[in-house]
Amino acid sequence: MDLDIQISRASKSKIDQVDFGNFSFGSVFTDHMFECDYVDGRWQNPKIAPYQSISIEPSASVFHYGQAIFEGMKAYKDSNDEVWLFRPKENVARFNKSSVRLAIPEFPEELFFDALKKLLTLEKDWVKKDEGSALYVRPFVIGNEFAIQASPSKNYKFMIICAPATPYYVGKVKVLVADKFSRAASGGVGYAKAAGNYAGQFYPTNLAKEKGFQQIIWTDSNEHKYLEEAGTMNVFFRIGDKLVTAPVTDTILDGVTRKSIIQIAKDLGIDVDVRRITVDEIKEASRNNELKEIFGTGTAAVVSEISEFEHKDELFVLPEVDDSYAKKLKERLVSIQTNKCEDPHSWRYKI
Ligand SMILES: *Cc1c(COP(=O)(O)O)cnc(C)c1O
Repeated sequence: MDLDIQISRASKSKIDQVDFGNFSFGSVFTDHMFECDYVDGRWQNPKIAPYQSISIEPSASVFHYGQAIFEGMKAYKDSNDEVWLFRPKENVARFNKSSVRLAIPEFPEELFFDALKKLLTLEKDWVKKDEGSALYVRPFVIGNEFAIQASPSKNYKFMIICAPATPYYVGKVKVLVADKFSRAASGGVGYAKAAGNYAGQFYPTNLAKEKGFQQIIWTDSNEHKYLEEAGTMNVFFRIGDKLVTAPVTDTILDGVTRKSIIQIAKDLGIDVDVRRITVDEIKEASRNNELKEIFGTGTAAVVSEISEFEHKDELFVLPEVDDSYAKKLKERLVSIQTNKCEDPHSWRYKI
């Protein structure tokens, strides 16, 4: 089995045409992409080629039955121009966990790492080192059999594309606590990074936006009683001086940022409770002025602070705190990711 990556380089880099201070994230891509096909029951023909369109027949199974999963990670550059990934083994393992759930063949870990290393080495100049900058790395796989049969695709295409992420200030967000729609149901695919999970969120999120909220805090689909995630992020609540977050289940995505924040909080001496938490509990805590912070965590925004939440037409406004856990935890996490401090848990991975 020949899994050597063939590399054909772009004749000229596009990087000089990019105004790094002025584009929206996710609309600009680097010079190269990685591609590998699953045909005849095995992954084959891995290659790196100039970023370009791919040709797919309209009958490709991904268009009809949605066999598609993805990952998201970031590469950072330190002051010595070394490029680092953050806990990539976690992403690769989760990629394969998502694949299994969607009946997609797993991608070999060794080839995944070889692809990441070779692609990121080629795209090194695209990893900027200004504060908040990084290169977002998007591996994904799609069902690629040209047949509209409602069964798992026989062929797949695995790809990795990269998009520069520039620093942006999101500000604090207002969120709506779900009491009708759900992101995930027990027994479903909520724990997988399945493309369809995102499609299903757009409509309820648009309705929330029309009401002036940026995101939805998702609750369990059975009773809308337990808090699960904030938008496409895991969610933390600070009650008194304790940090509380839900345990990962089959409806909650096992976020790399989430587990890193839990560890860093413990390292900093902050009490962390991983347990189910109800909507009523945070409403009550807010009324008693014990609810000090809510924040979401994920690779894209790292830590995103929430200032207000509404549930069943009742609005709750969080206080301003001087000793923000969100800021403290984010600063520490970003320092580790960008090689500005020690890495006690060996999370950095050098490219
Ligand atoms: C990707 C994702 C997260 C965050 O995961 P990270 O590994 O921290 O980036 C959280 N929730 C959902 C639904 C996600 O898709």
